Amino acid sequence: MKITEILSKKRSFSFEVFPPKDGQPLEPLLGVLNELYKFSPDFISCTYGAGGTNKGRNIEICDSVIKSGHTSLSHFTCIGGGREELIEVMDSYMAIGIENVLALRGDLPDGWSGTRGDFAHADELLAFIKEKRPSLCVGVAAYPEKHIQADSFESDIEYLKSKQTNGADFMTTQLCHDIDAFDRFLELVRGKGVKLPVIAGLMPVLFREGTIRMTLSNGCSVPRELSEIIGRYPDSPADFKKAGKEYTVRQIERFLNSGIDGLHIYSMNKHEDISEILIGAGFEHAAGV
Ligand code: FAD
Repeated sequence: MKITEILSKKRSFSFEVFPPKDGQPLEPLLGVLNELYKFSPDFISCTYGAGGTNKGRNIEICDSVIKSGHTSLSHFTCIGGGREELIEVMDSYMAIGIENVLALRGDLPDGWSGTRGDFAHADELLAFIKEKRPSLCVGVAAYPEKHIQADSFESDIEYLKSKQTNGADFMTTQLCHDIDAFDRFLELVRGKGVKLPVIAGLMPVLFREGTIRMTLSNGCSVPRELSEIIGRYPDSPADFKKAGKEYTVRQIERFLNSGIDGLHIYSMNKHEDISEILIGAGFEHAAGV
């Protein structure tokens, strides 16, 4: 099913997973997916070759998602991709029934200054997809606190607008712990004419070092409540995780009161922690836990 169709009927609920590294088996992730399906997600997104590694393995995951009767969203980047290769990838997606892609520039591998492909930015990739394979439903990334490499918040929003002009169907946001900043972003872009449905990406707080690394590498702010958790548990991963999960439950509640069209959980393939958080937030679970 196309994500636009889902969004036309309800607020979507979905998960992101990442594929195994090259040479690693799929089975552990298939087990994770079986657990995540118990929350009846509207779709599952799978990342694409972040940092230039394991590029292309996402198709195996999307295939399994579709075969299990669920909707998949494949991330799709223009890192190192020429036009012909990108068409081949799109056709391989469509051949297995993928109807949704997230058009991204991609994280540039260390030492790269550009994509080394035919497109420098996601808006160009998006226009190409819409021209060559118009039946695909295409989402784009958005940054509530500005993309870390953007010259300014204003220019970043202008590029988001050009993604809308080039035919984007929805936007999914980067992690943002500061829900007030998220609300300001939404008000600002709506005021500037960005009408795309917004699917809020939520990064659960589970691991201290990982939380710090992801937050800083994306240039995101740390609200006082999260900063206290980070400061309070420097040496106790279990206490940090417990407090982080409780915090994430509160973040979910805040997001759901935030005028979003969809909630997308960055699962990090951690189904046990994610299940506990979602049950804590009152989500229904097929096993009725
Ligand atoms: P762009 O839209 O191209 O923006 C990149 C920078 O260039 C921004 O600073 C922007 O302001 C600027 N810019 C945009 N358009 C133009 C233009 N036309 N001319 C000049 N400057 C411009 N990465 C992966 O490698 N694999 C993944 O699977 C993946 N999944 C993601 C999922 C989500 C929901 C999000 C939010 C990010 C994901 N990323 C992934 C990370 C993403 O690839 C990086 O954030 C990347 O640095 C930017 O991608 P983008 O599509 O936003 O790029």
